[in-house]
Amino acid sequence: MDRYAVAGNPVAHSKSPQIHAMFAAECGQAMEYGRLLVPLDAFEITLQAFAASGAKGCNVTVPFKFEAFRLAHLCTERARLAQAANTLRFDPQGWFADNTDGVGLVRDIQARAGIDLAGRRVLLLGAGGAAAGVLGPLLEAKPAVVAVANRTPARAQELVARHQAWGAQHAAELHVVPLEAPGSGFDVVINATASSLQGATVPVPGTVLGPGALAYDLMYGPAAQPFLQWAADHGALGLDGLGMLVEQAAESFWLWRGVRPSTTPVLAALRAETA
Ligand code: NAP
Repeated sequence: MDRYAVAGNPVAHSKSPQIHAMFAAECGQAMEYGRLLVPLDAFEITLQAFAASGAKGCNVTVPFKFEAFRLAHLCTERARLAQAANTLRFDPQGWFADNTDGVGLVRDIQARAGIDLAGRRVLLLGAGGAAAGVLGPLLEAKPAVVAVANRTPARAQELVARHQAWGAQHAAELHVVPLEAPGSGFDVVINATASSLQGATVPVPGTVLGPGALAYDLMYGPAAQPFLQWAADHGALGLDGLGMLVEQAAESFWLWRGVRPSTTPVLAALRAETA
């Protein structure tokens, strides 16, 4: 039986084992997927032991995505841009890293919600691991503009500088804006900060939302409700990150197993559970 896990600290809350069990059943894949609680100072040694025990790969979550990227021998272009990995495959010739968060987000917005990002004005809030993971695939969708705002502006500047050539390659203008004055009337606002997780207020004014805008919080479950209420209060369509979670998992599954699971029934099962 091929073995995988989600590695992080904490991991008890993770829905990944449940998602991958549903994918495996649907696709007839003989695999096990568990949780690996990794001590904060022992990511490398814990992962080496897991790989040496015959495991085939893992997902990586907070706070180890940057370390996971550094430990890999080969990686995808999107992981290189992010400098962070949420997926590792333990290949015999070395560890292979990917970051599937961004493609998960873009699929949820474009394929599921039916909103084409091409030509849109996008505001991305945050410059942590999640923002780093989504910026490359967002630019690939050819928005007219992506403005990045973060509480610590230097982190946003560094993220934008690293993606500048990638943005130009996809005809997308990319720049940093101050969190206190990010501009107004965006078509899409993506909250990739930890504000909802912390129960903090949405860090930008409602004027960032243009008429009929999409307001997307990477958070999901009860903690995302205040953001969704804020979106509704300002006439925007609010979406939480549960669809992204399922889509990024499907992309990891494909990387490991070479099979694409269908995500709609899995998302429906998770929604029914959280309702
Ligand atoms: P992270 O690396 O710790 O980064 C946190 C980011 O939030 C930083 O940009 C930080 O700004 C900012 N921030 C923290 N508290 C804030 C506040 N009160 N007001 C404004 N900005 C604040 O965390 P992460 O890994 O990027 O995760 C961010 C969120 O995305 C979490 O809620 C996580 O659950 C979610 N996520 C969801 C998915 C999914 O599949 N749906 C995938 C990945 C992550 P500074 O730079 O100034 O510290």
